[in-house]
Amino acid sequence: MAVHAHPDDESSKGAATTARYAAEGVEVLVVTCTGGERGDILNPSYVVPDGHEFDSLDGRHAVRREEMARSAAALGVRHRWLGFVDSGLPEGDPLPPLPEGCFALVPLEEASEPLVRLVREFRPHVMTTYDPSGGYPHPDHIKCHEVSAEAFAAAGDAARYPDAGEPWEPMKLYYNHGFSMESLRAVHEAMEGAGLESPFGDWIESRAAREIPEREVTTYVPVSGYFSHRDDALRAHASQIDPDGFFFAVPRDIEADVWPWDEYELAVSNIPLPERAPGEHEDDLFAGVREALDAERAAGDEGREHAQVNA
Ligand SMILES: [Zn+2]
Repeated sequence: MAVHAHPDDESSKGAATTARYAAEGVEVLVVTCTGGERGDILNPSYVVPDGHEFDSLDGRHAVRREEMARSAAALGVRHRWLGFVDSGLPEGDPLPPLPEGCFALVPLEEASEPLVRLVREFRPHVMTTYDPSGGYPHPDHIKCHEVSAEAFAAAGDAARYPDAGEPWEPMKLYYNHGFSMESLRAVHEAMEGAGLESPFGDWIESRAAREIPEREVTTYVPVSGYFSHRDDALRAHASQIDPDGFFFAVPRDIEADVWPWDEYELAVSNIPLPERAPGEHEDDLFAGVREALDAERAAGDEGREHAQVNA
Protein backbone atom coordinates (compact mmCIF):
# COMPACT_ATOMS: atom_id res chain seq x y z
CA MET A 1 0.00 0.00 0.00
CA ALA A 2 1.55 3.25 -1.19
CA VAL A 3 -0.01 6.28 0.53
CA HIS A 4 0.31 9.64 -1.22
CA ALA A 5 -0.95 13.17 -0.63
CA HIS A 6 -2.12 14.21 -4.13
CA PRO A 7 -2.86 12.64 -7.49
CA ASP A 8 0.55 12.74 -9.32
CA ASP A 9 2.67 12.04 -6.21
CA GLU A 10 2.37 8.32 -6.95
CA SER A 11 4.00 8.97 -10.34
CA SER A 12 6.97 10.94 -8.97
CA LYS A 13 7.73 8.99 -5.77
CA GLY A 14 8.32 5.26 -5.92
CA ALA A 15 6.29 4.87 -9.13
CA ALA A 16 8.59 2.37 -10.79
CA THR A 17 8.65 0.32 -7.58
CA THR A 18 4.86 -0.03 -7.54
CA ALA A 19 4.87 -0.92 -11.26
CA ARG A 20 7.57 -3.52 -10.71
CA TYR A 21 5.88 -5.23 -7.79
CA ALA A 22 2.51 -5.17 -9.55
CA ALA A 23 4.11 -6.78 -12.63
CA GLU A 24 5.66 -9.43 -10.38
CA GLY A 25 2.25 -10.38 -9.01
CA VAL A 26 2.11 -8.37 -5.79
CA GLU A 27 -1.26 -6.73 -5.16
CA VAL A 28 -0.43 -3.02 -5.07
CA LEU A 29 -2.87 -0.37 -3.88
CA VAL A 30 -2.10 3.33 -4.27
CA VAL A 31 -4.03 5.49 -1.82
CA THR A 32 -4.42 9.23 -2.46
CA CYS A 33 -5.41 11.33 0.56
CA THR A 34 -6.74 14.40 -1.30
CA GLY A 35 -8.36 15.15 -4.64
CA GLY A 36 -5.64 17.60 -5.70
CA GLU A 37 -8.25 20.36 -5.92
CA ARG A 38 -5.81 23.19 -5.24
CA GLY A 39 -3.10 22.21 -7.72
CA ASP A 40 -2.41 24.80 -10.42
CA ILE A 41 -1.75 23.95 -14.04
CA LEU A 42 1.99 23.27 -14.07
CA ASN A 43 2.37 22.17 -17.69
CA PRO A 44 2.63 25.19 -20.04
CA SER A 45 1.50 23.12 -23.02
CA TYR A 46 -1.61 21.80 -21.22
CA VAL A 47 -5.02 22.46 -22.72
CA VAL A 48 -8.04 21.79 -20.49
CA PRO A 49 -10.03 19.03 -22.27
CA ASP A 50 -13.46 19.79 -23.71
CA GLY A 51 -16.21 19.39 -21.16
CA HIS A 52 -13.83 20.19 -18.25
CA GLU A 53 -12.87 23.36 -16.42
CA PHE A 54 -10.07 24.19 -14.03
CA ASP A 55 -11.59 27.22 -12.29
CA SER A 56 -13.38 25.48 -9.41
CA LEU A 57 -12.34 22.88 -6.85
CA ASP A 58 -14.88 20.43 -8.31
CA GLY A 59 -13.71 21.07 -11.87
CA ARG A 60 -10.07 20.47 -10.96
CA HIS A 61 -10.91 17.36 -9.03
CA ALA A 62 -12.81 15.96 -12.03
CA VAL A 63 -9.80 16.57 -14.29
CA ARG A 64 -7.43 15.06 -11.80
CA ARG A 65 -9.62 12.00 -11.21
CA GLU A 66 -9.29 11.13 -14.89
CA GLU A 67 -5.53 11.76 -14.86
CA MET A 68 -5.18 9.58 -11.77
CA ALA A 69 -7.11 6.71 -13.39
CA ARG A 70 -4.74 6.82 -16.38
CA SER A 71 -1.71 6.88 -14.09
CA ALA A 72 -2.92 3.87 -12.09
CA ALA A 73 -3.52 2.00 -15.36
CA ALA A 74 0.01 2.87 -16.55
CA LEU A 75 1.48 1.52 -13.32
CA GLY A 76 -0.80 -1.53 -13.25
CA VAL A 77 -1.94 -0.78 -9.70
CA ARG A 78 -5.26 -0.47 -7.92
CA HIS A 79 -6.24 2.92 -6.56
CA ARG A 80 -8.46 4.40 -3.85
CA TRP A 81 -9.16 7.97 -2.73
CA LEU A 82 -9.43 8.90 0.96
CA GLY A 83 -11.68 11.81 -0.02
CA PHE A 84 -10.02 14.76 1.75
CA VAL A 85 -9.71 18.21 0.19
CA ASP A 86 -6.30 19.54 -0.92
CA SER A 87 -4.88 22.15 1.50
CA GLY A 88 -2.92 23.99 -1.19
CA LEU A 89 0.66 25.17 -0.71
CA PRO A 90 0.49 28.39 1.33
CA GLU A 91 2.84 31.07 0.01
CA GLY A 92 3.76 34.53 1.24
CA ASP A 93 5.19 36.21 4.34
CA PRO A 94 3.42 35.86 6.67
CA LEU A 95 1.90 32.64 5.35
CA PRO A 96 -1.87 32.86 4.82
CA PRO A 97 -4.10 30.60 6.94
CA LEU A 98 -5.02 27.21 5.50
CA PRO A 99 -8.44 27.00 3.85
CA GLU A 100 -11.29 25.84 6.05
CA GLY A 101 -12.04 22.11 5.89
CA CYS A 102 -8.79 21.16 4.13
CA PHE A 103 -6.94 17.88 4.84
CA ALA A 104 -4.18 19.46 6.94
CA LEU A 105 -6.73 20.93 9.36
CA VAL A 106 -8.70 17.71 9.96
CA PRO A 107 -7.91 16.36 13.47
CA LEU A 108 -5.54 13.37 13.37
CA GLU A 109 -7.99 10.63 14.43
CA GLU A 110 -10.69 11.83 12.08
CA ALA A 111 -8.16 12.09 9.23
CA SER A 112 -6.69 8.65 9.96
CA GLU A 113 -9.93 6.71 10.32
CA PRO A 114 -10.58 6.12 6.59
CA LEU A 115 -6.99 4.93 6.14
CA VAL A 116 -7.24 2.58 9.15
CA ARG A 117 -10.41 1.20 7.57
CA LEU A 118 -8.64 0.72 4.24
CA VAL A 119 -5.62 -0.97 5.85
CA ARG A 120 -7.98 -3.40 7.58
CA GLU A 121 -9.81 -4.06 4.31
CA PHE A 122 -6.81 -4.37 1.94
CA ARG A 123 -4.53 -5.96 4.55
CA PRO A 124 -1.12 -4.84 3.24
CA HIS A 125 2.12 -6.41 4.46
CA VAL A 126 4.14 -3.32 3.51
CA MET A 127 3.17 0.35 3.55
CA THR A 128 5.04 3.32 2.08
CA THR A 129 4.59 7.00 2.89
CA TYR A 130 6.68 10.17 3.37
CA ASP A 131 9.10 10.95 6.19
CA PRO A 132 7.96 13.24 9.06
CA SER A 133 9.05 16.36 7.14
CA GLY A 134 6.72 15.37 4.31
CA GLY A 135 9.73 15.15 1.98
CA TYR A 136 8.89 18.71 1.05
CA PRO A 137 6.99 21.16 3.20
CA HIS A 138 3.51 20.92 1.73
CA PRO A 139 1.00 20.65 4.60
CA ASP A 140 -0.74 17.72 2.88
CA HIS A 141 2.55 15.81 2.59
CA ILE A 142 3.22 16.26 6.30
CA LYS A 143 -0.35 15.20 7.08
CA CYS A 144 0.05 12.20 4.75
CA HIS A 145 2.97 11.07 6.91
CA GLU A 146 0.96 11.58 10.09
CA VAL A 147 -2.10 9.60 9.01
CA SER A 148 0.06 6.82 7.51
CA ALA A 149 2.12 6.44 10.69
CA GLU A 150 -1.07 6.50 12.77
CA ALA A 151 -2.82 3.91 10.59
CA PHE A 152 0.26 1.67 10.50
CA ALA A 153 0.50 1.74 14.31
CA ALA A 154 -3.23 1.52 15.10
CA ALA A 155 -4.73 -0.81 12.47
CA GLY A 156 -3.60 -3.95 14.31
CA ASP A 157 -4.97 -2.80 17.66
CA ALA A 158 -8.59 -3.87 18.24
CA ALA A 159 -8.99 -1.21 20.91
CA ARG A 160 -8.22 1.59 18.43
CA TYR A 161 -10.78 2.67 15.80
CA PRO A 162 -13.16 -0.14 16.89
CA ASP A 163 -15.73 0.77 14.23
CA ALA A 164 -13.26 0.63 11.33
CA GLY A 165 -13.09 -3.12 10.67
CA GLU A 166 -11.20 -6.21 11.86
CA PRO A 167 -7.66 -5.50 13.13
CA TRP A 168 -4.77 -6.03 10.71
CA GLU A 169 -1.12 -5.35 11.52
CA PRO A 170 1.09 -4.49 8.52
CA MET A 171 4.69 -5.76 8.77
CA LYS A 172 6.87 -2.92 7.47
CA LEU A 173 6.59 0.84 7.02
CA TYR A 174 8.87 2.70 4.62
CA TYR A 175 9.46 6.34 3.76
CA ASN A 176 9.86 7.26 0.09
CA HIS A 177 13.11 9.02 -0.65
CA GLY A 178 14.52 9.62 -4.08
CA PHE A 179 16.40 12.70 -5.19
CA SER A 180 18.99 12.06 -2.48
CA MET A 181 22.13 14.18 -2.82
CA GLU A 182 24.01 11.01 -3.72
CA SER A 183 21.62 10.30 -6.59
CA LEU A 184 21.59 13.93 -7.79
CA ARG A 185 25.39 14.05 -7.85
CA ALA A 186 25.68 10.72 -9.65
CA VAL A 187 23.25 11.74 -12.40
CA HIS A 188 24.67 15.28 -12.58
CA GLU A 189 28.20 14.01 -13.14
CA ALA A 190 27.06 11.48 -15.72
CA MET A 191 25.15 14.18 -17.62
CA GLU A 192 28.15 16.52 -17.65
CA GLY A 193 30.41 13.62 -18.61
CA ALA A 194 28.16 12.98 -21.61
CA GLY A 195 28.36 16.67 -22.59
CA LEU A 196 24.70 17.30 -21.65
CA GLU A 197 23.21 20.06 -19.56
CA SER A 198 22.34 18.71 -16.12
CA PRO A 199 19.05 19.85 -14.56
CA PHE A 200 20.45 19.38 -11.06
CA GLY A 201 23.38 21.86 -10.83
CA ASP A 202 21.54 24.70 -9.05
CA TRP A 203 19.60 22.28 -6.86
CA ILE A 204 22.76 20.53 -5.66
CA GLU A 205 24.39 23.89 -4.84
CA SER A 206 21.39 25.29 -2.96
CA ARG A 207 20.90 22.09 -1.00
CA ALA A 208 24.58 21.86 -0.13
CA ALA A 209 24.49 25.52 1.01
CA ARG A 210 21.52 24.90 3.29
CA GLU A 211 23.24 21.83 4.77
CA ILE A 212 19.95 19.92 5.05
CA PRO A 213 20.68 16.70 6.92
CA GLU A 214 20.18 13.74 4.61
CA ARG A 215 17.84 11.04 5.85
CA GLU A 216 19.10 7.50 5.85
CA VAL A 217 18.46 5.33 2.82
CA THR A 218 18.20 1.69 3.91
CA THR A 219 16.77 0.18 0.75
CA TYR A 220 17.56 0.46 -2.95
CA VAL A 221 14.95 -1.25 -5.12
CA PRO A 222 16.20 -1.92 -8.68
CA VAL A 223 13.54 -0.52 -11.01
CA SER A 224 15.15 0.56 -14.29
CA GLY A 225 13.01 -1.99 -16.16
CA TYR A 226 9.99 0.03 -15.07
CA PHE A 227 11.08 3.60 -15.89
CA SER A 228 8.77 3.53 -18.92
CA HIS A 229 5.79 2.71 -16.66
CA ARG A 230 6.75 5.60 -14.38
CA ASP A 231 7.12 7.95 -17.34
CA ASP A 232 3.70 6.97 -18.71
CA ALA A 233 2.23 7.59 -15.24
CA LEU A 234 3.90 11.02 -15.09
CA ARG A 235 2.55 11.96 -18.52
CA ALA A 236 -0.93 10.83 -17.45
CA HIS A 237 -0.95 13.85 -15.11
CA ALA A 238 -1.04 16.19 -18.07
CA SER A 239 -2.16 19.25 -16.09
CA GLN A 240 0.73 18.86 -13.66
CA ILE A 241 3.72 17.43 -15.49
CA ASP A 242 5.47 19.18 -18.36
CA PRO A 243 6.51 16.46 -20.86
CA ASP A 244 9.49 18.66 -21.80
CA GLY A 245 10.30 19.59 -18.20
CA PHE A 246 12.33 18.58 -15.21
CA PHE A 247 11.08 15.01 -14.83
CA PHE A 248 12.14 14.14 -18.37
CA ALA A 249 15.45 16.02 -18.45
CA VAL A 250 17.68 13.00 -17.85
CA PRO A 251 18.06 10.47 -20.70
CA ARG A 252 16.75 7.17 -19.40
CA ASP A 253 19.79 5.18 -20.53
CA ILE A 254 21.99 7.45 -18.37
CA GLU A 255 19.59 7.11 -15.44
CA ALA A 256 19.48 3.32 -15.84
CA ASP A 257 23.26 3.26 -15.96
CA VAL A 258 24.08 5.39 -12.90
CA TRP A 259 20.92 5.33 -10.73
CA PRO A 260 18.64 2.37 -11.50
CA TRP A 261 17.01 2.41 -8.04
CA ASP A 262 14.10 3.83 -6.05
CA GLU A 263 15.30 4.73 -2.57
CA TYR A 264 13.52 4.07 0.72
CA GLU A 265 14.07 4.35 4.44
CA LEU A 266 12.78 1.47 6.54
CA ALA A 267 10.98 3.29 9.36
CA VAL A 268 9.34 0.43 11.30
CA SER A 269 9.53 -3.35 11.06
CA ASN A 270 7.30 -5.66 13.07
CA ILE A 271 9.10 -8.75 11.73
CA PRO A 272 12.65 -10.14 12.03
CA LEU A 273 14.81 -9.03 9.09
CA PRO A 274 17.45 -11.00 7.17
CA GLU A 275 20.99 -10.43 8.47
CA ARG A 276 22.98 -7.85 6.55
CA ALA A 277 26.69 -7.09 6.57
CA PRO A 278 27.66 -3.55 7.66
CA GLY A 279 27.08 -1.17 4.76
CA GLU A 280 24.88 -3.69 2.96
CA HIS A 281 21.44 -2.41 1.99
CA GLU A 282 18.06 -4.01 1.39
CA ASP A 283 17.02 -4.33 -2.24
CA ASP A 284 13.44 -5.48 -1.65
CA LEU A 285 10.60 -3.87 0.34
CA PHE A 286 9.38 -7.41 1.04
CA ALA A 287 12.70 -8.61 2.52
CA GLY A 288 11.80 -10.83 5.47
CA VAL A 289 8.07 -10.71 4.68
CA ARG A 290 7.86 -14.02 2.83
CA GLU A 291 9.89 -15.71 5.56
CA ALA A 292 7.64 -14.21 8.22
CA LEU A 293 4.55 -15.44 6.36
CA ASP A 294 6.08 -18.93 6.03
CA ALA A 295 6.80 -18.94 9.76
CA GLU A 296 3.23 -17.80 10.48
CA ARG A 297 1.86 -20.54 8.26
CA ALA A 298 4.08 -23.19 9.86
CA ALA A 299 2.93 -22.07 13.30
CA GLY A 300 -0.67 -22.14 12.05
CA ASP A 301 -0.26 -25.67 10.62
CA GLU A 302 1.28 -26.91 13.85
CA GLY A 303 -1.61 -25.35 15.73
CA ARG A 304 -4.09 -27.14 13.50
CA GLU A 305 -2.28 -30.50 13.75
CA HIS A 306 -2.20 -30.09 17.50
CA ALA A 307 -5.93 -29.36 17.53
CA GLN A 308 -6.61 -32.47 15.45
CA VAL A 309 -4.58 -34.63 17.82
CA ASN A 310 -6.55 -33.23 20.69
CA ALA A 311 -9.80 -33.87 18.90
ZN1 LIG B 1 1.81 16.36 -3.54
